[in-house]
Amino acid sequence: MGQNPVISARVRHIPQSATMKIADIAANLRREGRDIISFSLGEPDFETPENIKKAAKIALDRGETHYTQGSGILELREAIAEKLKTDNGLDVTSSDVIVTTGAKHAIFEAICTLIDEGDEVLLFDPAWVSYEAIVKFAGGKPVLVPVSEGDGYAPVEFQSHITKNTKLLVLNSPCNPTGAVYDERVIKSIAQTAEDHGIFVISDEIYEKIIYGAKHHSIGALIPDLAITVNGFSKAYAMTGWRLGYATAPHSILQSMLKIQQHTVSNATSFVQRAGIEALSGDQSAQRAMVTEFQTRRDLMVNGLARVGIECVLPKGAFYAFAKVARFGTSEQVTEQLLRDALVAVTPGSAFGPNGEGYVRISYATSREDIAEGIRRIEESLQKESNT
Ligand code: PMP
Ligand code: GLU
Repeated sequence: MGQNPVISARVRHIPQSATMKIADIAANLRREGRDIISFSLGEPDFETPENIKKAAKIALDRGETHYTQGSGILELREAIAEKLKTDNGLDVTSSDVIVTTGAKHAIFEAICTLIDEGDEVLLFDPAWVSYEAIVKFAGGKPVLVPVSEGDGYAPVEFQSHITKNTKLLVLNSPCNPTGAVYDERVIKSIAQTAEDHGIFVISDEIYEKIIYGAKHHSIGALIPDLAITVNGFSKAYAMTGWRLGYATAPHSILQSMLKIQQHTVSNATSFVQRAGIEALSGDQSAQRAMVTEFQTRRDLMVNGLARVGIECVLPKGAFYAFAKVARFGTSEQVTEQLLRDALVAVTPGSAFGPNGEGYVRISYATSREDIAEGIRRIEESLQKESNT
C-alpha cells in the first residue's frame, strides 16, 4: 500500500487514523464474541440527551430535509455566536461563524485554507493524530515540538522551532491525549509569541466543557486577528455520530474555509443543525452530569493505575489518561500485549508523535465496571509479563 503508485503521493504516506483503527479492531473482536474492554476511542458512552434528540426529530418531521446555507442555518450561527461571546469572550456575530460537519472538518478547512506547500505548522508533541495527517494532506510540513510531563505538557520554550516558514500553530486545551489544560499564563505567552511572529493559531476547544476544576481560556479573545477557534458538539453533548461542529475566524479566512465546505460537503445535515440549537440553548443539566461522572471515572482510572504501579499526570480535562508504560515495553508492544493477552484496547502513545513513545492513551469514557475490570486485567497481564 505504501508504494502503490495509483495513490497520490500525498495520501500514500499518511497512516490510517490510529485512534479509529484500534477502535475498529476492538469492535471486530467484540463482534467475534471476544470480551473486549475498550479504552481506545475517545467518545462519551452516554446517549445524546433526550431534548437534543427530540429537536432533531421535530425538524425531520417538519420536513427540514434539504440543503441549508453552506455556512449553516442562521439560528444556529446566532446561538453559537452567543455561546462564543458568553463562554469565551470572543467579539463575534452570526456572520463570523460557520457550522461544519464536526470539529475535524473545521480543522481540515482551516489548515487547507492557510497552508501552502512547504509552510510549517507547529504541533505540540504528543498531539492528536489527525493534525499531522491534515497538515500533510495540505502539503504543509508538521514541526513537532516536544512537551513534557514535568511542565504539565505545556510548551515552555518553543520559539526556537519558529522559522521564516512557520505559518500556523495548533493548540488543543484541554488536550487529547494528555488531558492537560493550559492556564492563563501559558495561553498569554503563546498569544504573545504568535503576535510577535505573525503566526496563526488554530485553537481546538472540543474538550472545553470536559474540565475538572480548572478554567478554560480561549486564545481567540487575546489575538482575534490570528485565531481560528474550533469547537463542536461531539464531546460536550455526547453527539459524536451527529457530525456537528463550528469555527470562527478572521473574515477572509472564514470565507475561504466556507469555499472548501461548499465544494466538499455543502453543509452540515439540516435537522442535525436544529439539534445543535437545542444543545446550546436548552437545559444543560445532562451535560453537567456527564462531566461529574467523567471526573469520578478519571479518579477511579488514575488511582487504579497508580495502585498497579502505572503512573500518569492527573488529567485536568478531556477523558484520557496518558499512562507511562515504558518499563513494560514500547507503546506498540504494550498495546498489542494488552489487546492480545488482556483483551483490553488502548491507543499507543507513539501514534500521537515520537514524544508519546513509552506511553499508552487510556480513554475513561466508559463504565465504572469496565474501568475496574480493565485495570484488573492490565495488572494481571503486565505482571505476568514482568515475571517471565
Ligand atoms: N479534536 C480533537 C482533539 C479530538 O479528539 C477530536 C475527536 N473527536 C476532534 C477534534 C474531532 O471532533 P468531531 O467529532 O467534532 O469531528
Ligand atoms: N477524537 C477521538 C479520539 O481521539 C475520536 C477518534 C478521532 O476522531 O480521532 O479517539
